[in-house]
Amino acid sequence: MERELRTTDPDIPFHASTTHLHHTWAKTYFSRPELYVRPRTIEEISKIIGLARKCHRRLVTVGCAHSPSDLTCTSSWMINLDLYDEILDLNKNTRVVVVQSGIRLHDLQQKVKEQGLMMPNLGSIDHQSIAGALSTATHGSSTRHGLLSQSVLGLKIMLADGRLVTCSRDQNLDLFRAATVSLGALGVITEVTFQMAPFFNIEWHQSLHPLQYLLTRWEHGLWTEYEFTRIWWMPYMGRAIVWRANKTDKPHHPPVSNWWRGSIGFHTYHVLLYIAQWVPQILPLVEKLVVNVQYGFKDGASSTAVEDGHTGLLMDCLYSQFVNEWALPLHRGPEAISRLSAWLHGDTVGSRIPVESKGIYVHAPIEVRVSDTSATTPRPYLDNTAPDGPTLYLNATLYRPYNCDPPCRIRYYEAFEYLMKELGGRPHWAKNFATVTKEDFHNMYPTLGDWLRVRNEVDPDGLFVGDWHRRHLLPTETGGSNLPLEEKKVSTTAASAGGLNWAGVISMKGLSPQTSEESFDMMRASEAERSSLPRGLDENPAEEEEEL
Ligand SMILES: Cc1cc2nc3c(=O)[nH]c(=O)nc-3n(C[C@H](O)[C@H](O)[C@H](O)COP(=O)(O)OP(=O)(O)OC[C@H]3O[C@@H](n4cnc5c(N)ncnc54)[C@H](O)[C@@H]3O)c2cc1C
Repeated sequence: MERELRTTDPDIPFHASTTHLHHTWAKTYFSRPELYVRPRTIEEISKIIGLARKCHRRLVTVGCAHSPSDLTCTSSWMINLDLYDEILDLNKNTRVVVVQSGIRLHDLQQKVKEQGLMMPNLGSIDHQSIAGALSTATHGSSTRHGLLSQSVLGLKIMLADGRLVTCSRDQNLDLFRAATVSLGALGVITEVTFQMAPFFNIEWHQSLHPLQYLLTRWEHGLWTEYEFTRIWWMPYMGRAIVWRANKTDKPHHPPVSNWWRGSIGFHTYHVLLYIAQWVPQILPLVEKLVVNVQYGFKDGASSTAVEDGHTGLLMDCLYSQFVNEWALPLHRGPEAISRLSAWLHGDTVGSRIPVESKGIYVHAPIEVRVSDTSATTPRPYLDNTAPDGPTLYLNATLYRPYNCDPPCRIRYYEAFEYLMKELGGRPHWAKNFATVTKEDFHNMYPTLGDWLRVRNEVDPDGLFVGDWHRRHLLPTETGGSNLPLEEKKVSTTAASAGGLNWAGVISMKGLSPQTSEESFDMMRASEAERSSLPRGLDENPAEEEEEL
């Protein structure tokens, strides 16, 4: 490392923390990267990539770690672009912005609002980095919009060999189709050119209905009457909250306040979910209580408000949770909901799901959302939505009250995924799918071979490849023929506060062996400010991160 560092420009900083504790938003996975680096310039990004390659390390790019799976876990080097977050160009006429890729969606919205612009659509939150959001096919809920990456006009991506490559619909199309859902496995996306919309307010309406109301309107305007529609299905009550919104010129007005929506409701619901860990039979009653207190007891009970689009489209995701969300053709929705409902009510035969449902009680709501990418061209190779019509997303959320895993998860997700696969579904890349095999993915994605080919061309040594990619997408290694810089998982162990500690190792096949301690000693000698050896996996975050 010392030798390698000496060959780089000393004026380009390389500040790395050795004590960073990485974890997912839900605290389901923890890992300790050997080095954690937050560059501010393109030169620093280039230096990190060069050093990682020369020091035989895998490099993981992380946004805000909101992907619920172990996709971003590593014991190797981690790069985070939170400090690489400027708007580089903004054209008010065309509404096109060029941004550094670490910018969080929330900050982007705030900055472009002054210029009368907004992102055309959003998911439930706006914490994500723009590069992280597009890399996993993040979506909102509207049949008039597709994935967030649909608004991406071009990208700059720094590859494993240090080349900074531009790709778009007109330039390096193959790379563009691979990088618009990249899963972090192609290189470091450094710049995003994004098509904004004019700033808008939304007027939303929310109302409670019997499930039958939804199913009879499914093909008759339920998803198309308003620009934005999302539904929370309460499986035990057989009811659903339908949330719909349109753009409006009306002045802001807040929703009628409800005492349950503040901290009283938050903590009461949390405690009830926690009690249900031991007495899951109470979950149907808890569902009823929470819905009735919050939304009203009668069908048709409703509320409404007018607010900024970029806040109105968001929602409070409450507690730590597992999320298992699948995309399937919208027209399969009524069958999917009816069969899952039958299974949850103990009718294994009627549900045609060959998994025992006795004793299973799940959390509400099941989230029901939509998009339509059928007119999108070119499509990302790993686009999970339906190519020839609107897409339905079903999200089987399971809360983790006080970071405790719910007891029903394995059987519930086995049944849910059986149904989703049978109905032609494909899982959300970032989320907690459990039974999908590599063979399933190859059958689900005719264009997976293209993505793998491009990935291999731009990163043949596996600088950006981890266990998640190998487990789900890359061909099964034979005789240890994994890529030289690829990271393998060596263990997952229970963390004392819940969740799993994840640890990996680089194969360094064909490269000179070098332990992490040797590499640290060399680096310490070269440009140490303060240093320490990486600590063992420990879920207690360091109070202050130490820097090399
Ligand atoms: C509370 C919550 C609500 C959510 N709501 C929604 C929703 O409504 N709709 C939806 O579709 N999803 C939703 N998600 C999932 C979320 O949008 C995705 O997981 C998204 O990828 C997270 O962005 P991030 O910046 O945290 O990226 P990370 O999770 O940190 O990274 C995601 C992937 O992007 C890669 N990556 C990140 N930055 C770069 C870069 N600069 N260059 C190359 N690769 C990069 C990483 O290596 C990784 O493979 C939600 C997640 C949470 C926790």
